[in-house]
Amino acid sequence: MDEISGVNPLAAQVAENMRDRIMLDRSTFGRPSSPRVVAVANQKGGVGKTTTTVNLAAALGVGGLRVLVVDADAQGNASSALGVDHGAGVPSTYDVIIGEASFADVVQQCPDQENVLVCPATIDLSGAEIELVDLDRREHRIADAMEEFLESGPEVDVVMVDCPPSLGLVTLNVLVAADEVLIPVQTEYYALEGLSQLLSTIERISGSLNPRLRVSTMLLTMADRRTRLSQEVEEEVRSHFGEIPLQTVIPRSIRVSEAPSYGQTVITYDDRCAGALAYRKAALELSWRLQAATGQG
Ligand code: ADP
Ligand code: MG
Repeated sequence: MDEISGVNPLAAQVAENMRDRIMLDRSTFGRPSSPRVVAVANQKGGVGKTTTTVNLAAALGVGGLRVLVVDADAQGNASSALGVDHGAGVPSTYDVIIGEASFADVVQQCPDQENVLVCPATIDLSGAEIELVDLDRREHRIADAMEEFLESGPEVDVVMVDCPPSLGLVTLNVLVAADEVLIPVQTEYYALEGLSQLLSTIERISGSLNPRLRVSTMLLTMADRRTRLSQEVEEEVRSHFGEIPLQTVIPRSIRVSEAPSYGQTVITYDDRCAGALAYRKAALELSWRLQAATGQG
């Protein structure tokens, strides 16, 4: 392989993709014994939360897990990428938060992915931060609805929640409902800046509103491993956070960024590209962690 990579980086990439595909096709995904709620959170915008949520969900689905994606960002980008209707008036996460609907009432089947359900977000959700202030149990609205849904015995192994880019009441609701947090970290110079605020918020919540909560996973995204900067950021994150970051790193990939404009995840859009393979590898790692956290499903 080294001879090839020395001559032609493209050939090396092709060979690596082929190795990954063979490995993935031979691997068995872990399955948690009870549904696991994963909040995908980072108050910074543009770090890859939505991209990570939809692509991990799709890849877990391909791996045989049954996934519910809850879109908790008023922009509704996760809903778009998963190809579900989220126009004005569509029953959504907002209706669940204000108590006008249950999750069972609002979830839609993802058209391309038989194992993926979606609770869409509409523009209504942009009003929720303010409306929540006056509601009863304002930090527990999503947790209460999620508990009711999961107790009804749905065929769901994992719930992945795409958080908005803030630490407001909607994100707080998600963190109170979650078993664990997955933090996407963009591989850039300021990667660690802002993380301390997120980590102290999570610590505060686990000390009061949700003792289960912990940061289980970080995922380095948009990396360009050929650059020194990318390597340095990766080293720094790994030295700070030990085993929390997944081994898999998501490369910057045009295919990943194109997929949403076709209402698709990269897993269905181009399942052979490096970005899709990276998300499938990350999902495999995550599935083992979910299984380890709950016992085998
Ligand atoms: P967030 O939800 O944290 O705001 P997004 O997932 O929306 O972040 O990603 C921000 C932008 O970066 C989007 O335009 C997305 O398409 C792009 N992007 C995310 N991950 C990748 C990647 N691995 N390669 C290329 N572009 C990416
Ligand atoms: Mg987003």
